[in-house]
Amino acid sequence: MQFREAPYNLAMSTRHVSQKVAQFTESVIREMSRLAQHHGAVNLSQGFPDFPAPEAVKAAAREAITADVNQYTVTWGAAPLRQAVAREFTRRYGVPVDPDTQVTICCGSTEAMVATMLGTLDPGDEVVVFEPFYENYAPDAILTGAVTRYVTLHEPDWTFDPEALAAAFNNRTRAIIINSPHNPTGKVFTRAELATIAELCHRWDVLAITDEIYEHIIYDGCRHVPMATIDGMADRTVTINSVSKTYSVTGWRVGWAIAPPRLAGAIRKVHDFLTVGAAAPLQQAGAAALSLPDSYYSELAAGYQHRRDMLVGLLEPRGFVCFKPDGAYYVMTDVAGFGFADDHAFARHLVAEIGVAAVPGSSFYHDPSLGRTKVRFTFCKSDETLQAAGRKLEALTGGARL
Ligand code: GLN
Repeated sequence: MQFREAPYNLAMSTRHVSQKVAQFTESVIREMSRLAQHHGAVNLSQGFPDFPAPEAVKAAAREAITADVNQYTVTWGAAPLRQAVAREFTRRYGVPVDPDTQVTICCGSTEAMVATMLGTLDPGDEVVVFEPFYENYAPDAILTGAVTRYVTLHEPDWTFDPEALAAAFNNRTRAIIINSPHNPTGKVFTRAELATIAELCHRWDVLAITDEIYEHIIYDGCRHVPMATIDGMADRTVTINSVSKTYSVTGWRVGWAIAPPRLAGAIRKVHDFLTVGAAAPLQQAGAAALSLPDSYYSELAAGYQHRRDMLVGLLEPRGFVCFKPDGAYYVMTDVAGFGFADDHAFARHLVAEIGVAAVPGSSFYHDPSLGRTKVRFTFCKSDETLQAAGRKLEALTGGARL
């Protein structure tokens, strides 16, 4: 996503186009996937796995369709999936969740996020966002009419300055978005960092909206801490997650929001009128997915740690400065050493001439200049795909002298 100054006159007329939509571009991540296809490049841009989903999960989807689970579920989601979401959150983190009043199943965490923002924020309300950020949050805020206040995560370990965070809060602040494990940096927010954020949420009566979609993709003994487990925060937190990344089914579009009942009611109303409901048979399969044994999750994390080390091992010798992630499945890199004009020029060269697609770093910043030397790679790919990318990258010259 990139911002446009409104009104933005493209060659194409914007007549009849809303002012809201005129303020942002199409997703750069999705565009890079299209460019990868166009150039026949190895796609390390958009974060979707190119390896199979677990057999048990696929079988559950087939069985649901065979059993004619074809009609709408109750709009806020099929009971077995809501129960599984509530059960697993309580089992893992000890926070009670009522599936009937707190869980809303949505069409992916993407819809859960926009439904949450539309359901809890009014035009002019302020929302705090850590930067770099997953590109959807800014258009979500624009569609909601909310004003974004950015707080920088500083490389190399992507920490924030508590004073800068405190300065972003005021009496117009209504929410803060926390994405941990974090896309694009791989940062995993610590309990102490979350407590600092929570203290500000209490002081200013602010909601925490969390994107925890990489909950299970975490390395080197790091632990995921949900904001809802921090003292007093369960009543002011909306926890968003999905089956997409955990079970390698990003195209199924089944996600959810866990919220206190008063907020779940608001999210459900928006969700109902946006989409009515997520795909019924895939919700049933989602309930099966959430019942996989704990060994599934440890194997998932170990598999991703292997892929992370493999990709970093391919990038560093070519001159990429890698910020090794503690979680999620992306590596943010610095490409200043290659001497290109900016991240877009570098990413274009990489996809068209070298044959590897990555995401220009500026798409994760509100001010593109902050990401102009950054490029994000994903490693949610098979060993063969990563090796193929490694072979292509051998043609790349320049880069940092390491
Ligand atoms: N979250 C993934 C990414 O950052 C995919 C995003 C999407 O295209 N919905 O690449």
